[in-house]
Order: sequence, then structure tokens, then C-alpha cells
Amino acid sequence: MNSERIDPMTDQEAARTDVMTPAQRSRCMSRIRGKNTKPELLLRKALWRKGARYRLHYKIPGRPDIVFVGKRIAVFVDGCFWHGCPEHGVSPKTNAAFWRKKIRGNVERDRRITEELRRDGWTVLRFWEHEVRDDLEGVVSKVLLAIETDTKNLAAVHENQGTLQELSSLPDP
Ligand SMILES: [Zn+2]
Repeated sequence: MNSERIDPMTDQEAARTDVMTPAQRSRCMSRIRGKNTKPELLLRKALWRKGARYRLHYKIPGRPDIVFVGKRIAVFVDGCFWHGCPEHGVSPKTNAAFWRKKIRGNVERDRRITEELRRDGWTVLRFWEHEVRDDLEGVVSKVLLAIETDTKNLAAVHENQGTLQELSSLPDP
């Protein structure tokens, strides 16, 4: 039987991920536990296979899931539920108002962070977890393209338009 259990980070991956000492990594892992969701792992592994070398949860606003420091590229994998994916961001029947408010808060925070990073010269790539699940190759291609073109603000807010539509009348920095 094929187990679906996913470790936050396999030892193998942890070993090659970074230059942290075991103590540093342990501290880091305890701080970020819960951020290493499955789609994020899938994307990281796929990027690694393509030779892309990244930093995890680099200390800039929003703690992006994957960061290419030299290129100033920040990659987020947004969970469909928590970030209000238009396709999968269903409102729970119970405490609907609470969840709407909560998720809306997350979406607005995502937007603020994207804007803040852009102002600081970061290229921000946001992907839905379902994009990573359904079209991993496509997502990888977009990240690699951003790395190769090295253009600032190439793709600020991706297909999150469904949710961000109502918020999109923002002035460009
Ligand atoms: Zn989704």
C-alpha cells in the first residue's frame, strides 16, 4: 500500500537543503513547522531536480516558501482553503462568517505582502496549491522563466485574480 504520509522535510532533503547546522535547522524547523505542506514540498523537489537552488523561509515579509536571494525572487504556495482559492476555497457551513472574515484577512495580508515585496524590488510569484498539484511542470516553468529572465516584477500576482479581483484596483508602485 502506498502511504500518503508526508514528513515536513525528509532527512535527505534537509541534508542537502541548506548550510545550516543541525541545531540551526532544528530550531528553524520547529519555528516553521506546518509551513512545509505537501504542495510546497512537491515544488521544492521539482525545482531542485531542475538545478534551482533556493532558500527556505528567508526572513523577508511574509516568509516566502521559496526564495532566490540573488535574483530577488520570492515564491509563495498559497493553500486553497486558507488563502481563498476561487475554485476550492469553500466556505464552511459552520461559523461561515468567522471563516469568511479569517480568509479575507489572509487574502488582504497576501496582497499587502506582495505589494511590500514588490516595492522592495522583489519579483513575487504566487501559486495556488492546486496549481502545484495539477500542473507542477507549468509552475516549475514559470519559476525557471523568472529566474532566467531576471526581470524585476515580471509576474507580481499570478492567477490569484479570482480572489484578488475586487482588490486589484491598486496603484502600481
Ligand atoms: Zn485551489
